[in-house]
Amino acid sequence: MTTTTSAPPMIRATGVNKFFGELHVLKDINLEVPRGQVVVVLGPSGSGKSTLCRAINRLEPISSGEIAVDGKPLPAEGKALAALRADVGMVFQSFNLFAHKTILENVTLAPQKVRKVPAEEARKTATELLERVGIANQAEKYPAQLSGGQQQRAAIARALAMRPKVMLFDEPTSALDPEMVQEVLDTMTGLAAEGMTMLVVTHEMGFARRAADRVVFMADGEIVEDAAPDEFFTAPKSERAKDFLGKIL
Ligand code: ADP
Ligand code: MG
Repeated sequence: MTTTTSAPPMIRATGVNKFFGELHVLKDINLEVPRGQVVVVLGPSGSGKSTLCRAINRLEPISSGEIAVDGKPLPAEGKALAALRADVGMVFQSFNLFAHKTILENVTLAPQKVRKVPAEEARKTATELLERVGIANQAEKYPAQLSGGQQQRAAIARALAMRPKVMLFDEPTSALDPEMVQEVLDTMTGLAAEGMTMLVVTHEMGFARRAADRVVFMADGEIVEDAAPDEFFTAPKSERAKDFLGKIL
């Protein structure tokens, strides 16, 4: 990938380690995600994928190393952290919408509270975003009245409402009924096409092949492979990746 500017990568993890007690969950992780790139993170259960996402968003403090978003190292706490965290949108496996708020309220809440966006503007943006993810007609409903796929698209709209610089997705389709997986993947593909920087943990190999610029394969807390999708799927280098692909494909 050639670039004429010296802009910092959107995400840069340098020598990141994470321990849960004795358990070494992230082992010297070095990862750069340039702006506009879509990186799919693959790996067996327990390999540290979620912990890596949570560390990038500072939902989980790291034991050593540094994580920078858009060139700015993540501070440990306080206002500066809140601001940087707002730059990172996150969508989880479970939808995490506020159950007692409408879909529209779910999308307008954080921009007003955190970004101090005026109510009218927040509403306008939210309506546009709900349109974009294809659920504008669900705006006045409550989460429980929507299908899982619609809820997950609402969660994506809610994250986008904060105007994040990067989006993290942690198995966003794993909790969905099979017939709803594609609508969420399509929404993500559209986002990627618009140039959003994305780090996506998923087991959807079709999405990885089609939408990823890069595949990062993790096992036992380490990045074992970092390759173009074609290369990774047709000629994985490590035994662990071969073993993983043998089970999943
Ligand atoms: P993945 O998302 O790849 O399945 P995780 O990042 O969730 O992996 O977990 C990596 C390892 O860290 C696992 O062994 C898991 O049991 C452990 N782990 C995750 N969260 C915690 C926690 N809060 N406390 C203790 N151990 C944890
Ligand atoms: Mg996980």
